[in-house]
Amino acid sequence: MTREQVIEAARAAFLAHYGVAPTAVGVAPGRVELLGNHTDYNEGFVLTAAVDYVTAIAGAHSERPLTHLASSAGFPEATFDPSAMEKSTGEDRWANYLKGIVDELQKTGTPVGKFAGFVVSSVPDGSGLSSSAALLMAAARLLTTLWPDPLADSPMELAKLARRAENGKFVGAPVGLLDQFSSACGMAGNALFLDCRSCAWRAVPLPSDKAGILIANTNVKHELAAGGGYSERHGQCLQAARQLLGRGDAKLRDVTPALLESKGIGLNPVLKQRAHHIVYENARVERAAEALEHGDLAEVGRLMKQSHESCRRYFENSCDEVDLLVEVASALPGVYGAKLTGGGWGGSAVILHDPTVIEDLKAALTESYTTKFGKAPTLLTTTTAQGAEGISL
Ligand code: ADP
Ligand code: MG
Repeated sequence: MTREQVIEAARAAFLAHYGVAPTAVGVAPGRVELLGNHTDYNEGFVLTAAVDYVTAIAGAHSERPLTHLASSAGFPEATFDPSAMEKSTGEDRWANYLKGIVDELQKTGTPVGKFAGFVVSSVPDGSGLSSSAALLMAAARLLTTLWPDPLADSPMELAKLARRAENGKFVGAPVGLLDQFSSACGMAGNALFLDCRSCAWRAVPLPSDKAGILIANTNVKHELAAGGGYSERHGQCLQAARQLLGRGDAKLRDVTPALLESKGIGLNPVLKQRAHHIVYENARVERAAEALEHGDLAEVGRLMKQSHESCRRYFENSCDEVDLLVEVASALPGVYGAKLTGGGWGGSAVILHDPTVIEDLKAALTESYTTKFGKAPTLLTTTTAQGAEGISL
């Protein structure tokens, strides 16, 4: 479904469900990390993009005693009192994301009251496209349209609010800003370069007629993904930074390749490998943003391949399934580059390719993957897209 079709479906579903027309829609895209794997919590750089899979929430002010929420994605209807919200632990806990946004808006002085909402989404479940950020940003855009707030003039400020909502007492997920930022600030035809320390960012051209984005999902999640690999890497990065820089609050962002080569000798070999990945990955993200500014897609592709190799060898967060997808894709003419995207130990590969080779690429990936693993990967063709938006109807 296109963005317009998702918006229209949310409108129609609201009308059918509540018997009245909605007065506003909030719509927000999912995102993909193109380069900068595990760099965000090291206060480094990321190259990301909003994609053309979106979540839309149609809504209206409500005179009923409670806020009512429904979703077409198979989640049960939820109700809550916006002046006395509690975290839900039941089947309706998806509404915690909206409670988080309501709570954060109320904290900034926006008097968000009762409303009705209906969610429709084209963001595939479990695809690593950050359906939670799309839901949060769609909610933030809907509610700042129903209750206008100057905050809505700044996509970055809304992204920070959505991050606080995801970190806060209703959801409680210790995520960084990357997902909400990408969903809030996306621009069609562009990737986004983000400095995760200063939150400074800029759009860099990634023209969709020259570069398509394919997300190849292995649909596997290895034990390390579920069992704390992410927090283990987080801890190792902090420890490496502390030892290299000699400060308690040090981050690998401040370690240069030269410093790593000179001071890394005394470091435990595992910590040195982790630091090696982050330090050089940050440099790759900076180079990739510059390459895109010069229209050099081949260089971006080379940097993506190096990033994947670094995940495999130094960060050790890839797996056989993702490695195969990257290897097969990289060998095809018309593919600029391919790499692991997301936390790792399963999940997806992101492949940047000439749009004219998409059918060959999909066929080659499906064939090789099915031969080796006995099932097909899920292939999502996508392109860069605009960020979250609130629409008055
Ligand atoms: P992701 O990587 O997709 O962001 P998360 O676990 O962070 O995965 O977020 C997924 C959660 O977001 C779901 O379990 C659900 O609570 C909520 N969510 C996402 N999309 C929808 C939707 N269309 N309707 C209702 N809730 C949704
Ligand atoms: Mg999420």
